[in-house]
Amino acid sequence: MTHKFKVNRLINRAKDLAFVPIFTRFWAARNNGLVRVYLYHRVDPIGEHSFMDDGGSPTISPDELLADLEFLRENEFEFLTINQLRTCKFEADKRYACITFDDGFASVYDTALPMAEELGIPVTVFQCSAMLRGQSPLWEHHLYWLFADRARLKTFEQWWTANIQHPFGASVDVLLKEIGLIELQTALGEFTELHPEIHVDLVVACRELYPSVEQLQAAHKSKHEIGSHGHHHYQRDKLSATEFRHELVESKDLLTKYVGETVTSFSYPFNRYLSGDEAVCAQLYSQTATVDGKSVTSDAAMSSIPRCTHPGSAKNGLRQRRWLLTGRI
Ligand SMILES: [Zn+2]
Repeated sequence: MTHKFKVNRLINRAKDLAFVPIFTRFWAARNNGLVRVYLYHRVDPIGEHSFMDDGGSPTISPDELLADLEFLRENEFEFLTINQLRTCKFEADKRYACITFDDGFASVYDTALPMAEELGIPVTVFQCSAMLRGQSPLWEHHLYWLFADRARLKTFEQWWTANIQHPFGASVDVLLKEIGLIELQTALGEFTELHPEIHVDLVVACRELYPSVEQLQAAHKSKHEIGSHGHHHYQRDKLSATEFRHELVESKDLLTKYVGETVTSFSYPFNRYLSGDEAVCAQLYSQTATVDGKSVTSDAAMSSIPRCTHPGSAKNGLRQRRWLLTGRI
């Protein structure tokens, strides 16, 4: 560990001390007139479905999520869904929060939502529509699964080298640099057909990880908002303009059909977007959500919503408060 790194760590730890309980009211009041939009992903006990931990975004445990929600409520944040931001009459001396989840894992519906309901908090779930109806594993989760086990990976690499024109990558990220996403999806389908035996446990895991249409409908009925997170969770910079638009349309159509009400908000998978995308999204959605760590001022146009993403388990309770009260650590 370098000297500079050690010093930075100490400075960061010292900053946490500003968030001891006696100062909570001060920090909470600094949020007056603002909307903090929080982003979480999977809600599972740590270690559950561990193959997912090698990639993707940090998981939050049910206890940690409950502590966050209770903390915000105790500190008098008023909770809104993303689409409620468009019609809310904001008051300068009040503070507001939106709780959002990207991807839409089953654990959000069966663990996070009951907790939020108990506290009277409406949430927004940005759902990947391809994860519904127990369809085949999403390409991304499929890759995490293959890369998480040495024997599986070896079989996959041998098959890839014999059948795919592109070089094999030593990690999920490297592999993605070598091949287009749609071509990759086809390759994974062919590999699964040839080796169903090594995918049995993956199919079981996805049944547990992915939500049902009924869960989505129940959430909507309970006044939570369902937004779109695309259909396949493709990275925008790996799609053509036509393919991107297709993702926007397909997910909107499916989710709207399932919940019986037009889906009006969209969050970019991997927070990737290109210049001009905002205008394309605006043809289909009223609001888009990004991950920029900023708060939203109550006089802002509520069409583009920056969010603060859960950074993973905090080193200490003070740092968790710091994130909740300032949006960054
Ligand atoms: Zn995502």
